[in-house]
Amino acid sequence: MKTLKEIHKELISKEKSVREIVNESIEIIKSHEKRVNKDLDEAENINAILGLFSQEFIDEQVEKAQKMIDEGHANLFTGVPIILKDNILVCGEIISAGSRMLENYVATYDSSVVAKIKESGGIILARANMDEFAMGSSTENSAYGVVKNPIDTSRVPGGSSGGSAASVAYGAAPLSLGSDTGGSIRLPAAFCNLVGYKPSYGSVSRYGLMAMGSSLDQIGPFANTVEDAEAFFDLISFHDPKDATSLKDEFRNKEINLKKKIGIPKILKDESIRKGIEKEILEDFETQILKIKSAGYEVVDVDLPNIDKALAIYYVICPAEVSSNMGRYDGVRYGLSIPGKNTVENFTNSRTAGLGDEVRRRILLGTYILSAGYFDAFYNKAVIAREILKQEFQKAFVSVDAIMTPTASIFPWKFGEKSDPLAMYLADIFTVPANIIGSPSISIPTKKRENLSENILPIGIQLTGDILEDKKLFKIAKEIEAIIQK
Ligand code: GLN
Repeated sequence: MKTLKEIHKELISKEKSVREIVNESIEIIKSHEKRVNKDLDEAENINAILGLFSQEFIDEQVEKAQKMIDEGHANLFTGVPIILKDNILVCGEIISAGSRMLENYVATYDSSVVAKIKESGGIILARANMDEFAMGSSTENSAYGVVKNPIDTSRVPGGSSGGSAASVAYGAAPLSLGSDTGGSIRLPAAFCNLVGYKPSYGSVSRYGLMAMGSSLDQIGPFANTVEDAEAFFDLISFHDPKDATSLKDEFRNKEINLKKKIGIPKILKDESIRKGIEKEILEDFETQILKIKSAGYEVVDVDLPNIDKALAIYYVICPAEVSSNMGRYDGVRYGLSIPGKNTVENFTNSRTAGLGDEVRRRILLGTYILSAGYFDAFYNKAVIAREILKQEFQKAFVSVDAIMTPTASIFPWKFGEKSDPLAMYLADIFTVPANIIGSPSISIPTKKRENLSENILPIGIQLTGDILEDKKLFKIAKEIEAIIQK
């Protein structure tokens, strides 16, 4: 897999043109995607890509990038193919959020991250399959079929940004964007042996991202290395007046003081918790701790007494926000519309035909949680618990730089193995806290790609930093990456 710098070098040395780099990506996509290449054998089909963007749009970007290079204005992203999760708007292109509801929906404006990539001369090439409206952990909830894990095609790639992860993992592009509401970047990164980064809440604009849980959602990168993920984060992280929760730029220049101290939640010592984690993942985690210690880091236990409530908090706040965000897909304003005898019937027909089971489940859950009489019992309690969790993490970050856990407690499962939605929700046990507290969080693979096989599955380690300390987290993550992959 080529890194960003390697591609950049090929381009500015004129060893390759932008057109050649883009065509290489398209060829790789064609050898993995039936939707793009009808002649492909079904066994080869990963189904990570829902479509290449229109030829006209790709050509326009290629020409612009080549011109930037020829005139000496290239940056690291100029001419580099990038894949987007299918919930990030690109003006004039179909963006469906993995849903039948938006099968033919053409975006009417660019998301702010897309505008920034365009400005840099990066090539927005294709849209990636995902769990419908980003609800899921395996990409089995897409209306357009499951995505296979390129490392073992009988297994899921993780979700909800499974297509963004799988496509980068098989080499379609060096970078992609996903969105992470409760782990949807980090979990697929761990399952596909990539680096996946969930930025601090407010550091990347959500303008033009189809909302799932508005107080939890962040757009973030998938990459082969921490360095590439950081470079991509630096590009897409800026103050955006179009997003009311976008942070001002000051925090980006914060001074970095490393304590060289990593915290491990005490709860990972509990037998009841350990039982829920695959033995090999625990062993790998302990091996990494030893390596990190011998590289000069101090590793200490941190007390986060309420971290075991994180999933419960998430599965109250998230569906509540989902039910309100999904209200706009009513068969009138956006997408699919199936007329009935009256407005209510229009509404029912369109939503019944347009939305899948998991989305409906979340709307029902969220509506219940927000209904009179239950609002105080569920929603308000979760909001209070969220504050408590935030304070517990704040306290921990006084003494440690980052908190480390495995990214996932389980290996990528085989298709259909988790048919019970609750079993699926449990897959996010380590990832949801960062979204609840707004912290940056990264998943780093512990194994080298070349050592993986159907018998040796990937494992990710997750580092979570204090809110707004994204640059500090990247600094540690680069060091840890070098230590654990040795
Ligand atoms: N798996 C989690 C959920 O289904 C997280 C989804 C996400 O991060 N978009 O809610």
